[in-house]
Amino acid sequence: MGEPACDVLEVEMALDLVEGELAAELPAHVRAFARAHADGRPPPGAPLVARLASTLQTARRACMHDVLADRGLALLRLAAPLAIESDVEVARARAATPSWDGLTVLAAARAAVARARFGTGAIELAHRLHGVDAVAAEGEPPEPGRALEHWQRRDGAVDPAAIDDVWQAIAARLGIAGAVRVDRASSPDIKPRTFVIEPRREVIVVVPAELGTPAARFAVLHELGHAAAALALPAGVPRVLDEAVASYIARLAEPPSWLPARWTSEHALPARHRRGAIATALDWIERALPDVRAPVGAAPPRALWHDPGAQAAYVAAEAIADRLQRDLGSNPPRGQLARVLGFERARIDRRTHV
Ligand SMILES: [Zn+2]
Repeated sequence: MGEPACDVLEVEMALDLVEGELAAELPAHVRAFARAHADGRPPPGAPLVARLASTLQTARRACMHDVLADRGLALLRLAAPLAIESDVEVARARAATPSWDGLTVLAAARAAVARARFGTGAIELAHRLHGVDAVAAEGEPPEPGRALEHWQRRDGAVDPAAIDDVWQAIAARLGIAGAVRVDRASSPDIKPRTFVIEPRREVIVVVPAELGTPAARFAVLHELGHAAAALALPAGVPRVLDEAVASYIARLAEPPSWLPARWTSEHALPARHRRGAIATALDWIERALPDVRAPVGAAPPRALWHDPGAQAAYVAAEAIADRLQRDLGSNPPRGQLARVLGFERARIDRRTHV
C-alpha cells in the first residue's frame, strides 16, 4: 500500500512479540476457563497482553499492511471485544442482574467505549469484525412462534462416552486432524461450550452431565462443529464462519443422516427453523440498542447480555452452512473441508474493514 518498508518491519516485529506472548499464555488461560465453565465458576481474567492498548494498536497497524493484514485481523478479533468488555463502566453494568433497563445501560456503556476507540457502535463493530453486513432494525421483529415440545422432552440419556465415538466418526468422514477432549460439566444446567486451547491442534468441549433430550444432543453436535472449525482453520476465525461450521455439523442431527440413530431427530429441522426465527428477532432487538425496542420476556436472554453482536452471525451463518452442505456433500474428499473453509474465510476477511 505504499508505506515505507521500515514501518512494515517495525509492525511485524511488534506483532511477532504479541503473538509469541499470546501463544505462551493463552493455552493455560483457556484450559482454566474450560475448567471454570465445567464447574459453574466465573471465568478467569484474560491474559494482560490480550487486554493492553498497545496490543490493539499493533493489531490495527498490522491491518494497514497487505502482508500483515490477516495476522492483524486475527489479533483484532481477539483484542477489540476485550478492550470493550474490560472497560470499567462496561464491567460494572455487566455485573448487574440482567434486566431490560440494565441492558440499556450496558449497551450504552459498550457503545461509548466502541465510539471512543473505534469510531463506531459496539454492535456494529462486532458485526464488521466478523463479516456481517450493516442492516438497520426496521419494522417489527419477527415472531418465532411456539416452542417445539418434543425437542425438549426427555427420551432417554446418551452416555457422554458416546460423544467421543460420534466425534471420531465426524473427524474421519471430514478428514479433521487434531485433539478433541470431551469434559463433563458438574451439573446438568451447564451449557455445552467449546474452548480452543491451540488452533489446529487442541480443543476442549465441555458437555452437560447428562444428554437426555434431542435439544441437548443437538447442542453437543453444534459444539463439535466449533471444534471442527478450530481444528481446520488458523486463529481468528470470523464468528459467522465459526457458527456456519457449527450449524453444518449440527445439521447431521436431521434425517437422513449417517450418524447413529440416537443422535438424529425428526424434530431437528423444525427446531433449526425456530432457532433461526429467534436469532432474527434478537438481532432486530440488538441492532436497535441502546434503545430497547419490543423486549420479550422478563429479562434479556443471556446472549444479549454476554455475547453482543452474536445474533447477526447466527442469522448470516445459515446461508454459509447451506453452501457447505451443497459444496461438501455427505462424504467430502479428504482435505476438502479445510479448503472450502479457507475460501469462505478469505471472502469474509476481504470484506472486513475496521
Ligand atoms: Zn455456536
